[in-house]
Amino acid sequence: MTTQGDCPSLLVVVSELDPLHASETDKEGPVLSLCLSNLLVFINTYLMFNHENRLAFIATTPSECSFLYPLNVNKPDSSGSTEDDLMPGKCGQYELFEDINSTITRGLKAVARRMNSGVTTRPLLAGALAKSLCYIHKHTTDKDNRLLPRILVMKSSPDSPSQYMPTMNCIFAAQKNSIPIDACLIDSDSGFLQQACDLTGGTYIRLPETKALLQYLLWVFLPDHSSRQMLTLPPLGHVDYRAACFCHRKLVEIGYVCSVCLSIFCQFNPICSTCNTRFPVPGLAGSKAKRKKTTQ
Ligand SMILES: [Zn+2]
Ligand SMILES: [Zn+2]
Repeated sequence: MTTQGDCPSLLVVVSELDPLHASETDKEGPVLSLCLSNLLVFINTYLMFNHENRLAFIATTPSECSFLYPLNVNKPDSSGSTEDDLMPGKCGQYELFEDINSTITRGLKAVARRMNSGVTTRPLLAGALAKSLCYIHKHTTDKDNRLLPRILVMKSSPDSPSQYMPTMNCIFAAQKNSIPIDACLIDSDSGFLQQACDLTGGTYIRLPETKALLQYLLWVFLPDHSSRQMLTLPPLGHVDYRAACFCHRKLVEIGYVCSVCLSIFCQFNPICSTCNTRFPVPGLAGSKAKRKKTTQ
């Protein structure tokens, strides 16, 4: 078994609730009904590993992303949340687990109830990553700077190309700040999170079956990143490096790149819509300004 030694962690769990997936089963969705109990066992084990370990939990849907734990982060939240502002305070370890479990369960149920089943967009991954990074920044820059931050994203829906730019910006911010992003995919693969794990040194797992969730959580995601180097973990394998074009938010393998601002387009544009640079139309003049870029 691995040890986390003297370095406590700050883990931000991002869990998404997708009504497009949820409607296939029950109202509260597969994440709640199948995975929540496993996730809570993982969270309790993580907190038992080192009594200084800290946790934050964010739930994201197509219309909101909010902190379910700790609750005092949500103070300015005006989305009509009905949870009490319950903080564990200075209670014993077991009471703390009970508090965390009931707070997260209650919060997820409230979020699921607020979810509009008519939406066709995907959960706000970029928003949740941005909130995680802000929370980590706030809690690791001053006195608690011994905390080793990391983010674990639990995702079940396919990527939304419209979130490509903000998501990549968050991934680059995490990479610059040495914050590993781990990803546990429950249903479909995610190219965004493959890139996130690849760039930040996190671990990417797509579950072979949902029943195996707890096993993967405890085996792969419980140890911190220094301990993982001593473990034999599943390799990342193929990474989907496709980028979304700035014109249609469509994932492209080969596209046109503006040589001034590096915006990506799926078709030739004589004027870059981002920086307004004019390019000679190919065939009329030398096509020096136009470059074809392969994104692997
Ligand atoms: Zn396009
Ligand atoms: Zn440009």
